[in-house]
Amino acid sequence: MNKIATVEALKHRNFNVQDESCALCGDGEDSVSHIFSACYTASVVWNHISRWAKVQNLFFFGFKDIVEIHEHVGLSGEKKEAFKGIVRIAVWLIWKARNKARFENKEVRADVIISELKASGFLWFKSRSRFKNLSWQNWCKFVIM
Ligand SMILES: [Zn+2]
Repeated sequence: MNKIATVEALKHRNFNVQDESCALCGDGEDSVSHIFSACYTASVVWNHISRWAKVQNLFFFGFKDIVEIHEHVGLSGEKKEAFKGIVRIAVWLIWKARNKARFENKEVRADVIISELKASGFLWFKSRSRFKNLSWQNWCKFVIM
């Protein structure tokens, strides 16, 4: 997991980084396990996804749990496929938000990440021909077809 260039990973490669704290919440360390699991900002996003997809609360102990979560939430077929994509887009958006906060010094709130997640997820899912008739209202209620 040290391939993702967090402060923790850079320290392993002997880079000297001044600020080791998480740029999203200012509280944890800038590591993969914190940014994507324990971070308050990420937990708000995961909590929203669990309510949106009507699955159990999402808690992760490591990045592997995130990658495999779609197998363990009781969804099948198109809903499982949509959920898997939503989780991957969320990871990407959390990472983008972390970089924006860290390198541009711009605060990114969880609700902004969630709005972007819904919009990007909708465009991604609707681009598949099977789902071209999916409406925004149904997407926001996680009614897939
Ligand atoms: Zn954090």
